[in-house]
Amino acid sequence: MPILVQKFGGSSVADSQKILAAARKAIRAQNEGNQVVVVVSAMGDNTDLLIDLAKQITDQPPAREMDMLLSTGEQVSVALVAMAIHSLGHKAISLTGAQIGIRTDSTHTKARIQTISTERIRRALDEGNVVIAAGFQGIDESLDITTLGRGGSDTTAVALAAVLSADACEIYTDVDGVYTTDPRIVPEARHLRQISYDEMLELATAGAGVMHNRSIEFAKKFGVPVHVRSSFSDQPGTMIVAEPEIVGQAVCGAAMIKNEARVTVLGVPDRPGAAITVFRKVTAKNVPMDMIAQNVAADSRADISFTVPRDELPHTLKAVEDAVKELGAEGCDCDDEVAKISIVGLGMATQPGVAERMFRALAEKGINILMIATSEIKISVLVAREYAAEALRTVHQEFQLDQEPPAKVSGTLRVPLADGTRSVPDTMVVARMEKMEKLIIEEVALDESQARVTVAGLPDIPGLAAQVFSEIAEAGVVVDMIVQNVGRQGHANISFTVPQKDLERCLAVAAEQADLLGCPPPASCPRVSKLSVFGVGMKSHATVATRLFQALAAEGINVELIGTTEVRVNVVVDGRHGEKARAALLAEFADAMG
Ligand code: ADP
Ligand code: ASP
Ligand code: MG
Repeated sequence: MPILVQKFGGSSVADSQKILAAARKAIRAQNEGNQVVVVVSAMGDNTDLLIDLAKQITDQPPAREMDMLLSTGEQVSVALVAMAIHSLGHKAISLTGAQIGIRTDSTHTKARIQTISTERIRRALDEGNVVIAAGFQGIDESLDITTLGRGGSDTTAVALAAVLSADACEIYTDVDGVYTTDPRIVPEARHLRQISYDEMLELATAGAGVMHNRSIEFAKKFGVPVHVRSSFSDQPGTMIVAEPEIVGQAVCGAAMIKNEARVTVLGVPDRPGAAITVFRKVTAKNVPMDMIAQNVAADSRADISFTVPRDELPHTLKAVEDAVKELGAEGCDCDDEVAKISIVGLGMATQPGVAERMFRALAEKGINILMIATSEIKISVLVAREYAAEALRTVHQEFQLDQEPPAKVSGTLRVPLADGTRSVPDTMVVARMEKMEKLIIEEVALDESQARVTVAGLPDIPGLAAQVFSEIAEAGVVVDMIVQNVGRQGHANISFTVPQKDLERCLAVAAEQADLLGCPPPASCPRVSKLSVFGVGMKSHATVATRLFQALAAEGINVELIGTTEVRVNVVVDGRHGEKARAALLAEFADAMG
């Protein structure tokens, strides 16, 4: 019998009527011939209320006790949903994470799933029950309750769908699918029929709270088709599958993270391994580092900037102060009034000028760009928080995301529900099952075709990035990786890579621009090697960047530029070291090669 996993978010079980409506949906699915597993979140904003309660007692509640507290929210709702199904004359059983056997590591409040036992669920299903599983929670080796991070019920649902080889995973929520951006902030956002795993993963990590990013890692790893749809209607929602909605589209969506903080370590001695000290100390505190920018040193000292969630700033600064002392760096600087705006699209890599359009649109609104990080399918900029919503609306408008794009629609809009097709072969699913939320590295690619250009000492005012890149685009040069960092004396440094054959042309334009803007002449490296490590869990496994730096430093290779996203970490090193760097990374990540 086909297995269907249905997940109901907090707003979909916010009161008794909604709980009954969710119960009816589950019963209907069972009557249609499915075995049904329902994953439920805490009612309404119950999780927020529990967090508030804890904060009234203490500023720093122990993480273990926090998990004990937060897991009660889901325990309430699973019991009520099971009662609702009983009251409608059907069999149901509620189970906590521990009862199901969702084994996690012991990182309280951000735990990762290690294994899931399916025995109890299968038995209950075979006895004719609708199984009601508590989302967001698990149990560690010492039988302590853990939670998976805010929004983690999505991850429970997709993980259960994966281990049960479910035919579909339906995510019922308060919107009728995934939009080009958050429709609460930009009402003209467009509903997407379909979106690819990679795009959804990047959007979710960039702030699209509609799906927990780690749930998409699972979906991608195990080829689970996810259907995001409304609890309050039967309209088709959005399918999250391997293929994008429109092949070749440069930008499919935009997202923002409003509460970020930027930290810059100033004047770090530029030697292999210096950056690791910073990363190691920050990741040891379990703080996820986001945009990372390291500019090439002009005076053999580098500035390293990165962003972290705003409420992680205090203990990030403690770690950074330690690193400053250890490294003999000049100091550190931070700004906690910043927000990150990102655009995402699989077609970006093949279309020139996307970054420049984003920078120009923001410049025309007078919005200053504080940091830039790009990858093949995502461009992120940091702006002052007061401009966050306006910046999001501006980029949404610039790429006309509110309008149905001209069709070159991907031929087959898959209706993957119950069709049994999986983008990952079954043998691979079995192999990956053992790894659950472990890091998987697909490939370490080497691109030796690029050169690097750095324009340093730019005054930090709106429009300069747009100006530099529009002149370069005008000269017909396609820019690949872009990193803008905050430097000393409040200056901005921009580094980027271009094809080697275009370097001279590009340098002429950059020199002219630098002169006009009163900056020193641009620096360059005629041959760099770009290494791309890609796979699943690149960023949610906070240690990937550190391991990567460490492996390169051990070979005496200095990292010139770095860019991280959910699916990739890109690093640029001197062109002479490409092969050696690739070998070092392959060896470092051998255990994670999928
Ligand atoms: P649930 O409680 O069902 O898990 P969430 O609040 O976690 O629901 O997620 C749904 C919300 O996500 C929507 O109400 C919407 O405001 C927000 N959201 C953010 N980005 C997007 C997007 N790109 N598409 C749809 N919704 C989005
Ligand atoms: N109740 C948890 C939260 O609010 C998990 C979830 O809803 O997905 O974050
Ligand atoms: Mg959610």
